[in-house]
Amino acid sequence: MAAAPLNGPDDDAPDAEAGRWLFAQSCEFVRGVVAMEGLPATEIAEVAFAGRSNVGKSSLVNALTGRKTLARTSNTPGRTKELNFFALGRAGAPAIMLADLPGYGYARETRSRVNEWTDLVMAYLQGRVPLRRVFVLIDARHGVKENDHEVMLLLDEAAVSYQVVLTKTDKLKTGELEMRLKEVGADIRRHVAAHPRIAATSSEKGDGIAGLRAEIASLADPAVLGYKARP
Ligand code: GDP
Repeated sequence: MAAAPLNGPDDDAPDAEAGRWLFAQSCEFVRGVVAMEGLPATEIAEVAFAGRSNVGKSSLVNALTGRKTLARTSNTPGRTKELNFFALGRAGAPAIMLADLPGYGYARETRSRVNEWTDLVMAYLQGRVPLRRVFVLIDARHGVKENDHEVMLLLDEAAVSYQVVLTKTDKLKTGELEMRLKEVGADIRRHVAAHPRIAATSSEKGDGIAGLRAEIASLADPAVLGYKARP
């Protein structure tokens, strides 16, 4: 299947109304953890967000949840290695957990930064049974950098399903975005665990946010989600 932006025509795109419905409900910060022991016990579905520092991850989580300050602003000293968990859905009976993973290093940093990220996060990725998908955020201006590529390979090896989300698309002209989508689409076809659809988003303009909400709603257990499509 060809890669297509979530906000473009796509016959397989999940139900936007379910996404809107899910994100209209409660979203609570659960906790920030620095070690496996601190992980919240959960059997409900979970999705995680990963990306290089400054890719726009906090902005995206805030845009999805419609809250300006839910995801702590990036680069807060001492907080950068935490996994932050949010529970989304009915209060007391959430439908899905969102896990905000620590940002990994800038392209010009050395390998060791990705390795450092790996130690903490790989244990989570490999041991987290309810984890349905990791959204790997890629800055639309820069495309897939070496450390993004490394992370994608790690996810392939760990057999963790992931989906690329382009961020800051408002900074590109339409033609540039199309070229970026083609280029990243060709790249992900070489990765076994990558979802074929690419989400193109702008937290600033709101583009692609409804589509990504729908994608997340589609990953919740329908019985727990409790959404009923209108006939
Ligand atoms: P994080 O380190 O990945 O959590 O990144 P942030 O969410 O803190 O964003 C990093 C920078 O990119 C900030 O200056 C944001 O204002 C900016 N940014 C984030 N998302 C967007 C977007 O969709 N469009 C534009 N133009 N800027 C963005």
